[in-house]
Amino acid sequence: MSAQLDGIGMTSRRTRMRLIQRLQEAGIRDTKVLDAILKTPRHIFLDEALSHRAYEDSSLPIGHGQTLSQPYIVARMTEILMQSKPSRVLELGTGSGYQTAILAQLVEQVFSVERIAPLQAKARERLRQLSLHNVSLRLAGRTMGWPEAGPYDAILVTAAPARIPDELPLQLAEGGTMIIPVGESSQMLTRVVRRGDDFVTTVLEPVRFVPLLEGVVR
Ligand code: SAH
Repeated sequence: MSAQLDGIGMTSRRTRMRLIQRLQEAGIRDTKVLDAILKTPRHIFLDEALSHRAYEDSSLPIGHGQTLSQPYIVARMTEILMQSKPSRVLELGTGSGYQTAILAQLVEQVFSVERIAPLQAKARERLRQLSLHNVSLRLAGRTMGWPEAGPYDAILVTAAPARIPDELPLQLAEGGTMIIPVGESSQMLTRVVRRGDDFVTTVLEPVRFVPLLEGVVR
């Protein structure tokens, strides 16, 4: 399969524009984020049987009990993160690689960690197809994140821990922002900003993510 950013061929521009309109109606304002979503072929991040639903504003299964996040959530988290103009970003939970692909178009360097090897392999192939070469992928599940490559201007977590793991905010650079869903049966999207040794935490809005787990799956 060949694919490229802005290769709107397979899905009509109108289908993608409808999604962009929905996101705008839902309050997404950052035009760079909206443009990256418009240009990114979300259908290649799904199995063929589901690809016809790629431009709906819903989360969709990607196998191994995991999900590709809803476009609104991807847009919202990215928009919040971009407010601090980060250049090096850590993503926790590569999954399909869709959120990774959006970030890679907006920042200089993306580091993304996944614990399920087959998901990472598929994501790697898709990012290669899209010629997004400013992404480094790592398979890990034991230590939280990727401390060796840090510190990061921003951290985006796409799976929910019951509480924020101590190691994660420590990987933020001074002034850096982390966006993370927190909670078990009910979760809240949470922003953490590093100010020296202080971590300023703001609870944003209710969300639903798969749990952040430990251990690599090969
Ligand atoms: N950003 C992804 C969302 C995938 S769902 C996308 O756009 O498709 C969340 C992902 O986090 C899953 O793939 C899951 O395997 C992964 N994950 C869960 N716990 C993890 C951990 N401790 N380290 C790395 N990845 C983790």
